[in-house]
Amino acid sequence: MYELNDKIRNLKPYDPISGEYQIRLDANESFLPIPEDLRAEILQRIDEAAWNRYPDPTAAGVCRAFGAYYGVPEECIAAGNGSDELIMILLSSFLKRGEKLLTISPDFSMYRFYGSLAEAENVSLTKPDTLRIDPDDVIRTIRETGARLVIFSNPCNPTGQGLTRDEVRKIITSVDALVVLDEAYMDFWNESMIQEAARYDNLIILRTCSKAFGMAAIRLGFAVANKRLADVIRAVKSPYNVNTFTQLTGEIVLSHQDLLREGTKKIVESAAALAKEIAAISQEFPGSFTQFPTCTNFVFLRSERAEKIFKKLLNRKIAVRFFRLGEVGDFLRITAGNPDENAALCAALREILKEG
Ligand SMILES: *Cc1c(COP(=O)(O)O)cnc(C)c1O
Repeated sequence: MYELNDKIRNLKPYDPISGEYQIRLDANESFLPIPEDLRAEILQRIDEAAWNRYPDPTAAGVCRAFGAYYGVPEECIAAGNGSDELIMILLSSFLKRGEKLLTISPDFSMYRFYGSLAEAENVSLTKPDTLRIDPDDVIRTIRETGARLVIFSNPCNPTGQGLTRDEVRKIITSVDALVVLDEAYMDFWNESMIQEAARYDNLIILRTCSKAFGMAAIRLGFAVANKRLADVIRAVKSPYNVNTFTQLTGEIVLSHQDLLREGTKKIVESAAALAKEIAAISQEFPGSFTQFPTCTNFVFLRSERAEKIFKKLLNRKIAVRFFRLGEVGDFLRITAGNPDENAALCAALREILKEG
């Protein structure tokens, strides 16, 4: 009988909330649709594309549009089939088997997952009760353990909090390890390192089109680093990782810079309004949950009743994300939706808390 090896034997497929929910506030997606005229233009371009040919392996057009939006030279950019693919590529190529990978928990779960597939040894640093990363802890842990690579999201999914540029710079310049900085939510904040990525020989930044830019469906992400590291990423990725239709869509949408900026602003406003309303609910129902500050498009709550609230929201056709994080506690992560969705969520939350 064929025996599965132990790194894959007990894996389960990724299982996001499926089923029919009227209101989806569980995956940190954008609530803004791509405008109709722009969609028509994209479909026209896709129709005219060379369907029988392989895509451009360098994804030059979309990298150029991405670089123009952020003011980053093209040679520093590599595209991926979602930033998720880039996480897998980085952890499996910049680490050798048995080398140490530092993750900081709680954080995005895919880091540990791809690290274990790469047979890296995971070293985990637990965040303090505030769920804020202490840069000195990170530096000390890297030095003490000899970790070769540290990866964390900034701002963090799921905690919603972030490190400032100064704090991130301190980490990068204090260690020899490779620092992979996942800035999936940085469009909602203003502490990005993207414009100075080329200055460091041990920094790779990840960005995605799935959150602020409303293109989770097309699977498009980017790595930004100095040319030496970007060349390595281009060399180790599979040659045709980003398909032609994604490249075209990404190039067109990313070249509408005002649209992206306005959309991002609307999402930030929605998140601020949601955070404020949830703070009001917290006042109305003292002790029912603790709310963390956020610089993202979602809010993060700690509650002993998180699972109950989560299930009762599902019964009302509202999906949010529930986390059980070991000793740290039970949490809810709620993505900011449009004003109607936020209002429905808050009304349901009040009802549920009233029920006790
Ligand atoms: C959503 C998310 C991603 C995944 O982005 P894709 O480009 O859709 O693969 C990566 N990192 C973090 C922290 C995320 O929350």
